[in-house]
Amino acid sequence: MDTEKIGFIGLGNMGHPMSKNLEKAGFPLSVYNRSSKKAEDFKEKSTVYTQIPELVQNNSIIFTMLTDDRAAKAVYEEILKSDISGKLFIDMSTISPQATAELNGAVRIKEASFIDAPVAGSTAPAAEGTLIIMAGGEEKDLQRAMPYLEKLGKAVKHLGENGKGIAGKLSVNYFLSAIYQGLAETVLFADKLGIDRTSMLEIINESASGSGATRVKTPMLINNKYDPAFALDLMLKDILLAQNAGADFPLSKVLSETYQSAHNEGFGEDDVIGIINYLKK
Ligand code: NAP
Repeated sequence: MDTEKIGFIGLGNMGHPMSKNLEKAGFPLSVYNRSSKKAEDFKEKSTVYTQIPELVQNNSIIFTMLTDDRAAKAVYEEILKSDISGKLFIDMSTISPQATAELNGAVRIKEASFIDAPVAGSTAPAAEGTLIIMAGGEEKDLQRAMPYLEKLGKAVKHLGENGKGIAGKLSVNYFLSAIYQGLAETVLFADKLGIDRTSMLEIINESASGSGATRVKTPMLINNKYDPAFALDLMLKDILLAQNAGADFPLSKVLSETYQSAHNEGFGEDDVIGIINYLKK
């Protein structure tokens, strides 16, 4: 089989380290980012495009890793300006099931293929190539994508037809939003009872209540610094997407209200575990 030429659009907190893994693996890579600065360090080994249609014309598999529905729709509007027949699009953003269906439909009408392949795992797994990838799409397209997805993640779960990847991702992030609010409230409660924060986090992490999620946020909670690996606003987006997709439970109401209020009070650009600063007020 001819070597595929790989394009990557969206070099944000996730897309940048993910593309770096494709570059390190030696694939012929092209990248695009709306603000060109984030593409600077690809100039040496890869091709940097400043226009989306040009990147699309010159590549056969195109990854997208974008903020939300609005960003994805804006980028696909540009993508669809080119002849895309035979190309494979892999959207790894967390967007709504409706937007996913729209993008899939628009791409297929032009005789191209689409996989929704959002990820579990934050910037560290993105850099290590150990994300969990949840894929929705046709088996043949997934087989085509596999050599590249394997460089991005430690597991690729094919959950069914288009849309199932996003469905899996909205489900797992629903849980994560509850973990982070629970962790922040627990740490504040222990603070209030005079328990040293570092000791409390050791107890959480070494006990049954600990997880990858609690461990990864521990340094931020100890240092009280919340530079965003996964911005609070992105979690708010995901809770609202889950609610719209049918997560109609007692917790979903509390979670959406809490994260929404934290956003309203100016904490949206902090890391998601910065919710602790909102809860402390
Ligand atoms: P991010 O750092 O904010 O990056 C977002 C990317 O989208 C940037 O490249 C940005 O370009 C681009 N973008 C936004 N609006 C655009 C537009 N209108 N046109 C073109 N490009 C646009 O976000 P991230 O943390 O990488 O997250 C990306 C996606 O992955 C989100 O859907 C998020 O929910 C999901 N996710 C994130 C994490 C995490 O831990 N961060 C984990 C799992 C999944 P500019 O640089 O020009 O703004």
